[in-house]
Amino acid sequence: MQKYLLDNLPLSLQERNLLNANGQQVYDQVMKDGGFVKVFCQRELPEYLKEDDWVSFYQSKVIAYEYKSMVDGSCIGKPYYYNYNEMLKIYEQKSLSWLKHQISILTIDPKALQMINVFFNFEALKQNHGNQSIDIRVQQPGYDSFQPCKINQQLEGMKIMDYVDYLDDPSKIIKKERLSAEQRLFAVNVNMQGWDKEINHLKQFLPKCLRPQGDNDGLSYLRQEIDGVNIPQIYIKTDGVWTGGHQENLSVNAININHGPADCVWITVDNEHVQKLRQKVLELYDTDIFKNEGLWFKEPEFFLKNAIPFRYTLQKKGDIVILGAGCLHWVKSFGQTINTAWNQVALDDVTLEAMSERHTLNKEINYRTVIPYKNLMLDLYIHEKSLSQMAIERIQLELQNYFDQENRKLNLIDPPSFSLVECCKQVQLCSKCEHEIFLYFYHDNEQYLCLDCVLDKSNHKGLHISMKYRYHCFYFLLQAQPTNCNQEFCCSYTGKTKCSIQQELKPAQLKYRGQHKLNSMLHGTDKMKKKKVERIDSEVDVKTTENNDKQKTRGRKQSIDKSQPTKKRSKNY
Ligand SMILES: [Zn+2]
Ligand SMILES: [Zn+2]
Ligand SMILES: [Zn+2]
Ligand SMILES: [Zn+2]
Repeated sequence: MQKYLLDNLPLSLQERNLLNANGQQVYDQVMKDGGFVKVFCQRELPEYLKEDDWVSFYQSKVIAYEYKSMVDGSCIGKPYYYNYNEMLKIYEQKSLSWLKHQISILTIDPKALQMINVFFNFEALKQNHGNQSIDIRVQQPGYDSFQPCKINQQLEGMKIMDYVDYLDDPSKIIKKERLSAEQRLFAVNVNMQGWDKEINHLKQFLPKCLRPQGDNDGLSYLRQEIDGVNIPQIYIKTDGVWTGGHQENLSVNAININHGPADCVWITVDNEHVQKLRQKVLELYDTDIFKNEGLWFKEPEFFLKNAIPFRYTLQKKGDIVILGAGCLHWVKSFGQTINTAWNQVALDDVTLEAMSERHTLNKEINYRTVIPYKNLMLDLYIHEKSLSQMAIERIQLELQNYFDQENRKLNLIDPPSFSLVECCKQVQLCSKCEHEIFLYFYHDNEQYLCLDCVLDKSNHKGLHISMKYRYHCFYFLLQAQPTNCNQEFCCSYTGKTKCSIQQELKPAQLKYRGQHKLNSMLHGTDKMKKKKVERIDSEVDVKTTENNDKQKTRGRKQSIDKSQPTKKRSKNY
């Protein structure tokens, strides 16, 4: 090592002395502890690196030997670790707007974690929800590429209890599914719809500002529950399984608890460097990290060699990872563990701007998102007086644009204006293309269609179009400043909001035929009823799941790309 460094790098006298004094020992210790990136990014630096300014010498020079190439150690970043006093303050905070860091770690007190984990351990999951069907991803561990991973299929028909059994003894399922020995199964996006006991229990131990549907959380204004967004989802993991690189839906904030026992590693790129990374990867590999979102995983070496700033975060048992807006992240598990995760929106300029940017990007790459951006901005525009003037003006301009777009599309369909029916303010997504429904839409007993999907229908001229709000009301809203709560726009929301109306669904809606069914679809109660049936009969299971997918107007966060091949199970357990 000494020779390599002396031959290849200009060393100061002091650095030569350090190297000669205990260079080999320090290097060996760093390697033994998992390499410099891991050692450097811990909460506390080890004593052997603190002495004699060893850490800056290693970061600037010795690291070249570790990677046998001229890497840039200055691009390594740590997460922010909250200390005890800061944690106490966080428990008193009334919103997430104190959040300043792209990735930060808050460690739950071990006693509190023990109580939380009464419901979040493998046995409890199996006992309380063992019959729930889950998405399983088949994975190749050790993937290190920006190209979309091909071996990332979905395995259908497994239940939570099957997965817990797999953790106990992988060989049975590996044999049954004819997988290779090194492949791993990952239980992703396990829904917690109806897990009220667990969700309420979890909330009790968390600071109010971090809870799902937290205090002054921008997502309180969602009009429906969305799995993994304002309802937590669970991830059950084994060693080597990974979540591919992505930003959260619309770049919103994320909260993620590692319930343990094993550690997870998060590699992240701050929002401000994401475009630089995107360009670099396009240049080098001719692939777009956004078009393959969730399908790639890249180890730190690439970032060191290409001088792109990144952060390396070890999330241990009991650590809560809090992500700032737009933080690009990918995660790998070092063993068997359980994570719960959900989103929030901090109502500050940085977050709202990141969301606006991501919404524009989504349009550019035709990416669907489960969070209805336009509706959310409308509700923030009406209710949140604390937003900066800059944010309010941008949102106003955006709403004006969406309003104009919708009216242009409506003109193409040209329904008789007297036939426009005002209804269904809760609807968020098109049943067919899953893009957002903002103002006008078509619906019957089966589905809600956005105007684009209506235009695709051959008989669209004769269709009755509905609207969530009346044209002139919307027009006046955009002229008015400041805005106030209004029966026309305000709705029943999923969280605690600043709305002074908080109305229930208008009784008038019940006049329409089939409305009851639609309301239950809107609120997800329909789906929950079907879920109970699923548990009795696995035949019904398959059919209702397909049905739900067609009918859903509420969202569901899925990290698996829809285009990925699905591996069907041939036999039933
Ligand atoms: Zn994420
Ligand atoms: Zn309706
Ligand atoms: Zn559509
Ligand atoms: Zn209101």
